[in-house]
Amino acid sequence: MRGVAVLGSTGSIGRSTLAVLRRHADRFRVVALTAWQDREGLSAQVAEWHPEISGLAGDPAVDGMPAGSDLLLEAATHPDADIVVNAIVGAAGLDATLAALKAGKRVALANKESLVMAGELVLAAARAGGGEIIPVDSEHSAVLQCSAGCGNPMSRLTLTASGGPFREWDAARVAAATVGQALQHPTWRMGRKISIDSATLANKALELIEAHYLFALPYDALGAVVHPQSIVHAFVEFCDGSVIAQLGFPSMELPILYALTHPERLPDGGIRRFDPIASGALTFEPVRTEVFRAFGAGVAAGRAGGTAPAVFNAANEEAVAAFLAGRTTFGRISALIEDALAAHDVRPATDLEVVRAADCWARRRVRESLR
Ligand code: NAD
Ligand code: MG
Repeated sequence: MRGVAVLGSTGSIGRSTLAVLRRHADRFRVVALTAWQDREGLSAQVAEWHPEISGLAGDPAVDGMPAGSDLLLEAATHPDADIVVNAIVGAAGLDATLAALKAGKRVALANKESLVMAGELVLAAARAGGGEIIPVDSEHSAVLQCSAGCGNPMSRLTLTASGGPFREWDAARVAAATVGQALQHPTWRMGRKISIDSATLANKALELIEAHYLFALPYDALGAVVHPQSIVHAFVEFCDGSVIAQLGFPSMELPILYALTHPERLPDGGIRRFDPIASGALTFEPVRTEVFRAFGAGVAAGRAGGTAPAVFNAANEEAVAAFLAGRTTFGRISALIEDALAAHDVRPATDLEVVRAADCWARRRVRESLR
């Protein structure tokens, strides 16, 4: 029995993780569950799973439930947890990623923001503590699945993007899109923040930065292509030009299961089997970078390195929160990100304080721009 801590258990990835674990209760045991604001959702999960620790982590105590970041770190380093599923959204997930890796855990990482903000520090924490990062993000899971057990170095990765709800819209219409329209993702059902990131294509830039750190490839060897059907999750090219792709109907349960079992696979009757006739035609098109400017801004931040990705991530989080709250337009999200990156003096991301300072600076900059 392997112990699993699920951080952010009430969210989209958290609930999908528990759905997978329910089918494999003979192999895995839930030892910790944390959420943030959804007290009722967490209470129901605690009643089903009886974890050793649980609570609302990140907020003041509510109705006697334990709370605060200490609880999150306790869950991330719990001695009975072999695997920590980090399904927290945003920068709030970074401390838990670092703590779990330093404690030698396998981190099944959905919280891509951790790697984007502080990639070098996260990798260093894994080296120092003997922890390992197994991606939950479907594209990165695909890369791992295509390359696992194969000694040949990858020469190029291409991640796919659905293109989001505005794939075919003209720039003026995209700029004026409403929250309701932006949340209508064509192929995936996800939390609100990543749904907006998918509509702006900032998500694909976050994922290229994530891939840069996970697979130690330079940005010239990383690319993205729009694939509206979301069936092929990534292409991995090897030095001889051969390309291996991973396919599956869009569902996060397969990459979650694989992150729990890698390098092994477990049979799972709950996952819909792929059928090339049912899937229909698979098509690919370039990213429209002139319309989805957040994508280019994010890739440029990745290439700049140092504190630039942390600024990209923080500016994006603030701009998306403002859009979701009705305080700015969809079109302004990318402009706010570009403004923060243009004004930022990139520094080497040598320690957590430098990264946090860059994150705070970017958030303040976006808030001030919105006043
Ligand atoms: P979500 O909004 O549905 O859930 C987020 C979870 O994080 C919730 O349980 C919430 O309680 C918790 N949380 C939020 N703010 C917190 C804070 N400040 N402190 C502690 N906990 C907090 O989000 P999601 O769609 O499940 O995404 C989670 C992560 O997984 C994100 O990093 C996202 O990019 C990544 N991801 C999601 C999907 C998907 O299909 N949903 C796919 C790939 C990657
Ligand atoms: Mg993804």
